[in-house]
Amino acid sequence: MNYLNNKYDVIVVGAGHAGCEAAISCAKLGAKVLLATLNVDHIALMPCNPAVGGPAKSTLVREIDALGGVMGEVADATYIQMKMLNSSKGPAVRALRAQSDKKQYMAYMRNIIENYENIYLRQACITDLLVENGEVVGAIDEFGIEYSARAVVLTTGTSLNGRIFVGLRSYSAGRLGEKAAYGLSESLVKHGIEIKKLKTGTPPRVDKRTIDYSKMTIQPGDEQLHFYSFKPNRPVRPQYPCYLTRTNEETHAIIKANLDKSPMFQGLIQGVGPRYCPSIEDKVVRFSENPSHHIFIEPEGLGTYEVYIQGFSSSLPADVQVKMLRTLPGLEKAHVIKSAYAVEYDYVPAVQTTHSLMSKKIKGLFFGGQINGTSGYEEAAAQGLIAGINAFNYLNNTEMLELSRSSSYIGTLIDDLVTKDIQDPYRMLTSRSEYRLLLRQDNADARLTPIGKKYGLIDDAQYKVFTDKQEAIEKELSRIKEAKVSATDEVNSILAKYGEHMERGMKIAELLKRPNIDYAVIKEIDSVTKDLNIPYDVAEQVEILVKYDGYLKRQEFQVEQASKLDKFKIPDDIDYSSIDHISSETKDKLSKIRPKTLAQASRIGGVKPADISILMVMLERHQFSRL
Ligand SMILES: Cc1cc2nc3c(=O)[nH]c(=O)nc-3n(C[C@H](O)[C@H](O)[C@H](O)COP(=O)(O)OP(=O)(O)OC[C@H]3O[C@@H](n4cnc5c(N)ncnc54)[C@H](O)[C@@H]3O)c2cc1C
Repeated sequence: MNYLNNKYDVIVVGAGHAGCEAAISCAKLGAKVLLATLNVDHIALMPCNPAVGGPAKSTLVREIDALGGVMGEVADATYIQMKMLNSSKGPAVRALRAQSDKKQYMAYMRNIIENYENIYLRQACITDLLVENGEVVGAIDEFGIEYSARAVVLTTGTSLNGRIFVGLRSYSAGRLGEKAAYGLSESLVKHGIEIKKLKTGTPPRVDKRTIDYSKMTIQPGDEQLHFYSFKPNRPVRPQYPCYLTRTNEETHAIIKANLDKSPMFQGLIQGVGPRYCPSIEDKVVRFSENPSHHIFIEPEGLGTYEVYIQGFSSSLPADVQVKMLRTLPGLEKAHVIKSAYAVEYDYVPAVQTTHSLMSKKIKGLFFGGQINGTSGYEEAAAQGLIAGINAFNYLNNTEMLELSRSSSYIGTLIDDLVTKDIQDPYRMLTSRSEYRLLLRQDNADARLTPIGKKYGLIDDAQYKVFTDKQEAIEKELSRIKEAKVSATDEVNSILAKYGEHMERGMKIAELLKRPNIDYAVIKEIDSVTKDLNIPYDVAEQVEILVKYDGYLKRQEFQVEQASKLDKFKIPDDIDYSSIDHISSETKDKLSKIRPKTLAQASRIGGVKPADISILMVMLERHQFSRL
């Protein structure tokens, strides 16, 4: 059935965090987009915690913004608390976290989408793909309606064949209040794509009027506000606190006594759960020596009494959950609005896609978000953005955007997904990057905005903001490498407050290298610096570049070394089975993943360093023989 002239350039399936970025980026670039989703009132829904960012994830959000995506802007516009985590630690691990108003977040994102004349929203369940001669040509919904497009981006989250578990009961659903999506998994399998299962879970939601906050520790937002977006003039909003409570022996005893009612522990769920976001019963069993776990009470928004019980994910029966909750200080009389649950769903192991996030089997078919085996809004949005940009590049036969590991966390995330056989939901962590000192949240614009501009997502006005900032950083760096402060008694009496002393006058840059000295101190001792009124984000960059100069240079050297392996391109038609002297495990992995360079091959789990050396010699000979 084909009516309504259903011809589009791109079909995005799913309006979650990945789907919104994919649809918006394609539309911004000029494509006509169909955004099909199970429920248009659930656009950009946060089915888990109402928060954006945190360790490593904040860098992803800043990178999305630097490339021209929208997540940072939406988080800035709808926060009810902003906090810089690890603010006393080094810049590589500082992380912004926004507690969001869940409903406002969704409304703001929907508004952005509705402002694009070339995005066509449609409430529909896509059940089949139309593929001709190895190329996608459209999709079909549950009513048999056909939509044609040369590119399709699948961002289906936890919906494919989703099943919710609460205790030993289970029912079909993609997440609470939304049906599961049937048909599409089977369609993918029919077209030769492998599907596997994963699991994730969410904690209960409680009525805040039944909580005694006086028994908890208050967690306020920051006074010095930071934002995600590099766009100027971000909105200043009132902030609301979160609270901290803890589990205790009684909580743990109830959990242990009820493990026989857990679908995880009873083997009803086959899919592997997120290693870095375990359920409370997992934590109690795996870390049995730990007598207590932190539990954060977070508001879901301003216009609601619903609060989120962070750290208390569970799939135990609903009545057991209430008993467990009521052992927590302050929650003795808690009224549960929504029970915690686990959901098992289909995903498409991303080793079947290239770094552009396009399927290796079906041209024009892209995947982004949880369907690729990740967990988290930020990971999803980052992939959605890249999949969207590349769907457009595919349509126009222009160069695909494939970010390197040394350019970004987004590049690292995608490289990990497509070269490693991920077995549990993948979450971004700072430890996943070998270049984390270079890939900080504070310099995402310097790393990626020129790329966003090149691919058409950064407009001239935004680019001018960027170049002005970079010029200001350069200018200030040059100034402080020359300008001196004298070692007067007055200066030393100020420095003494910070445990510092100067024997002789020195350049500002030299003084700024000292661990106890920051820009605020320099302003105190040097009236010229004070009068210059350097903006915070410029001073922050100058300080980091001066203080960590040695470490940054060392990491830049590592990038240079690693890029040598990148120069060894592997021919597309290489037959690994015919190569002597490399292990069969290496042959299997390389045949399955088909890396494009030796650097990619070297990062594949199970590929031995000795085999890489053999391949290097072989590729050298091959390239030599073709000269
Ligand atoms: C129960 C639960 C617990 C979670 N726990 C955590 C956690 O602890 N930590 C964490 O970081 N993240 C967690 N998440 C994950 C987080 O919600 C997701 O990673 C994130 O939302 C994924 O974004 P996405 O865009 O890939 O998918 P989603 O946000 O899930 O969006 C998918 C969209 O696709 C639509 N869709 C699906 N199939 C079809 C179809 N066939 N046709 C049309 N539309 C379709 C759906 O309606 C939905 O709008 C949890 C999610 C759930 C559901």
